[in-house]
Amino acid sequence: MTSESKPAHFLQNLIREDLTEGRVSQIATRFPPEPNGYLHIGHAKSICLNFGLAQEFGGTCNLRFDDTNPAKEEEEYVDAIKRDVSWLGFEWNGEAKYSSDNFDQLYEWALHLIKQGKAYVCDLSAEEARHYRGTLKEPGKNSPFRDRSVEENLALFEKMRNGEMEEGQCSLRAKIDMAAPNINLRDPIIYRIKKMAHHQTGDKWCIYPSYDFTHGQCDAIEGISHSICTLEFEDHKPLYDWLIEHLPVPSRPRQYEFARLHLNYTVVSKRKLKQLVDGGHVDGWDDPRMPTLSGMRRRGFTPASIRNFCEMIGVTRSDSVVDVGMLEYSIRDDLDKNAPRAMCVLAPLKVTLKNYPEGQEEILAAPGHPVRDDLPARELPFGRTLYIEKEDFREEANKKYKRLVLGKKVRLRNAYVIFAEEVVKDDAGEIVEVICSVDFDSLGKDPADGVKPKGVIHWVSADNNVDCEVRLYDRLFNDAAPDAGGKDFLDYVNPDNLQALKGCKAEIGLGKAEPEQGYQFERNGYFCRDSQYGSTETPVFNRTIGLRDSWAKEQNK
Ligand code: ATP
Ligand code: MG
Repeated sequence: MTSESKPAHFLQNLIREDLTEGRVSQIATRFPPEPNGYLHIGHAKSICLNFGLAQEFGGTCNLRFDDTNPAKEEEEYVDAIKRDVSWLGFEWNGEAKYSSDNFDQLYEWALHLIKQGKAYVCDLSAEEARHYRGTLKEPGKNSPFRDRSVEENLALFEKMRNGEMEEGQCSLRAKIDMAAPNINLRDPIIYRIKKMAHHQTGDKWCIYPSYDFTHGQCDAIEGISHSICTLEFEDHKPLYDWLIEHLPVPSRPRQYEFARLHLNYTVVSKRKLKQLVDGGHVDGWDDPRMPTLSGMRRRGFTPASIRNFCEMIGVTRSDSVVDVGMLEYSIRDDLDKNAPRAMCVLAPLKVTLKNYPEGQEEILAAPGHPVRDDLPARELPFGRTLYIEKEDFREEANKKYKRLVLGKKVRLRNAYVIFAEEVVKDDAGEIVEVICSVDFDSLGKDPADGVKPKGVIHWVSADNNVDCEVRLYDRLFNDAAPDAGGKDFLDYVNPDNLQALKGCKAEIGLGKAEPEQGYQFERNGYFCRDSQYGSTETPVFNRTIGLRDSWAKEQNK
């Protein structure tokens, strides 16, 4: 499923036509996040689409912070958004832009509408305005303030701007049509009073433009050719067009909509993700369990895996829910091809090789990857005592159990064949050690006695390893649609979404593992070192994803 083999989607077709028919000569798109939270996997779809179209058609893509609501916005979010877009592999055109860069111009355009008799100051309270607005079935009623003179409106708007009015006392509304079937055209508010400092403009303003009065005009100022947004803005398009038509804007952008990404077992809404953070359900916006780009990055997702996922899901105008298994497939596929191999024992059981000389150590070589010979080989210290997984040993077992059994053989991955001779138990009867013998002739070849071991297990030297913590994650939610109609998504937070295993033993080379570098811990899944938890001596490894691929199997049935 690469871009070469995939048929073009409707926006690619539309842009190609716009270019060939000369309606547009230069493609300019933008990604317009509101800095009120961290970006999530849904935003990745929009980023890949907007930046991807610009790349494909030799155009440009702006990063614009849609910052008209100072109450919910913060500089921390601005920084995180820039970091995440860059990490995903995209470069925006010039400096990052802010809607607030255009507050002076937007104010001028508000005056322009007033002077044209197309906007008025309305004193209805929010409650009253709702009443006047009407419903989907019934038309609205004109505000009693609708017919104020241009002079009066200019004077009142001036007062609003100068802080002489209280919040909620009045607002500026476009004068369109209170009987319009589309409620967005029923004299929408274009400026409201908010006596609040703004993260970009400081104390300069105490009135702020609405989203609708801002977005299209900023598109026009930036010369955006295709303003691409999600379907919920379809009903705003007539207002978008009305404003572009009635204002002396420098260009005429057009809006196009596509379907949002919905993922099962996941919530993609900044508001809800903020609730998870504020409620202490996770350890911050970049917690590795979060579907934020920062969280996924810490967890071990690669930018390529997210871009490939966005390519796989495609772009349409119909809403659907994507199986989170597809995202898991995408990262697994990437790491399978690119992640160096390593061994790490999560629940160690001591093995003593009684015929291996005490105090002796040798270094065995292991490939970095089964097929990628550009990845460096590993050096594995091997000695008299080792660790294997507790679950890889049994005193008795049937034939299906292809690991170490008392009185039988197993191969140690990249090393010798060993034979289990005795077990040592503690007072509680639990096995604490297995005494084995090693077949010195079995390195890289079958045992001389012709009896091949049935299985291969991973192991780590007991004397020369990295003590570490391993964090296994399960889905953050235990319901496929945690925020579907009427449900409180917080009721579906999976209580077992994190298992932190201490005292794990990793092969010595992993002491140098860099955060974000993925590894396959053989037989245990894909992992990367956490960038925040742990120490140099005791790193923490996050499991990015397990080895089993349920989604791809389903597809091949
Ligand atoms: P949220 O509900 O999470 O706050 P939003 O749409 O309010 O999302 P914005 O910051 O306004 O978030 O989004 C920036 C851009 O990303 C918008 O163009 C928006 O349409 C797009 N976007 C947001 N969520 C998704 C999603 N789930 N799928 C595709 N695009 C999305
Ligand atoms: Mg929003």
